[in-house]
Amino acid sequence: MERTIVAVTDYIEPDLTWEEEQLARLGVKLMAYQLKFAPPEELLSKVKDADVLVVNMARMNGEVIGGLRRCRLIIRHGVGYDNVDVAAATRKGIMVSYVPDYCLEEVAEHTIALMMACVRRLFQGRKVLEDSARRGSWDFEPLVPTFRLMGKTVGIVGCGRIGSRVLRRLSGFGVRTIVCDPYLPEERRRELGVPFVDLEALLSESDVVTLHVPLNSETYHMISEPQLRAMKPTAYLVNTSRGPVVDTKALARALREGWIAGAGIDVYEREPPEPGEELLSLPNAVLSPHISWYSEESAWDIRVKIVEDIRRFCEGKPPRFLVNPEVLQRRGT
Ligand code: NAD
Repeated sequence: MERTIVAVTDYIEPDLTWEEEQLARLGVKLMAYQLKFAPPEELLSKVKDADVLVVNMARMNGEVIGGLRRCRLIIRHGVGYDNVDVAAATRKGIMVSYVPDYCLEEVAEHTIALMMACVRRLFQGRKVLEDSARRGSWDFEPLVPTFRLMGKTVGIVGCGRIGSRVLRRLSGFGVRTIVCDPYLPEERRRELGVPFVDLEALLSESDVVTLHVPLNSETYHMISEPQLRAMKPTAYLVNTSRGPVVDTKALARALREGWIAGAGIDVYEREPPEPGEELLSLPNAVLSPHISWYSEESAWDIRVKIVEDIRRFCEGKPPRFLVNPEVLQRRGT
């Protein structure tokens, strides 16, 4: 019997020795590459004969998927899978799985951190401290006005795994929380026990708006000029979801012209942003480098979960989180 081959297109771990050992015990051969920016032909020249692909940032477009010869499973190393053309995979009978159950606590914690950094104007405060130290006298002017969060309204857009964790954490903050999530089942809405509103109402009522939606054709640029203009001039926007959910150019203008008070952003339309990206020069933008997902704990968690999915593949079982179950129905499994 031929050995199962797992190819890793690109990875962020320091090395994959641990995975290699784990998979060797299953009789699986691991081939690891760093092909994040490789064009389709180069990617295919390395991975086309693998049975399973583990993909972090590499683009699995129709061309790449079309050229795979033996692949039965693509595992996206992460929570989103917008870099994988799922329809193309489904057409070829390839299962697509992902790891939506890791780093949830980290992203929720990071969201709260960005929110508080905005509201308490932490980074502008550091600049005030440095300038005041240089001058030998305090000048708090750049920090005025700062408003208390308690008693204000926080709007959560998308209340799934992460949004609901943010909601739970906010319960101790003395804020009013409202949610926009038209796809949440009625039973789940009742469990959460918060008011559900449409996006328009959420934007106009909230003092902080935090985004936790997946990136798809409906959510692409869901926050653009009209939505930013609908927010309060004292409000903050927090985005730890996916960069393209927010129109970056409109956001930069909103921050520069004071349509909103500030933003806490972890994800970008282009990653990493270009050096000339205007957000990088705006003092009311609190920015982090797409790092919400990271902690030592979560970085291990995803490795363990991916090896578990490969083990399941070897045993003929579906992965833990299958994006396109219709592939199995077609196979009659
Ligand atoms: P999830 O699927 O559990 O929840 C998403 C929620 O959004 C669902 O409840 C869904 O009904 C809702 N939704 C979908 N379309 C909507 C719309 N148009 N308007 C309002 N609500 C809508 O996803 P999750 O695990 O909570 O992840 C949320 C986001 O966080 C994703 O974009 C994911 O890629 C991102 N993420 C980012 C990082 C990071 O490091 N920054 C890490 C993990 C996840």
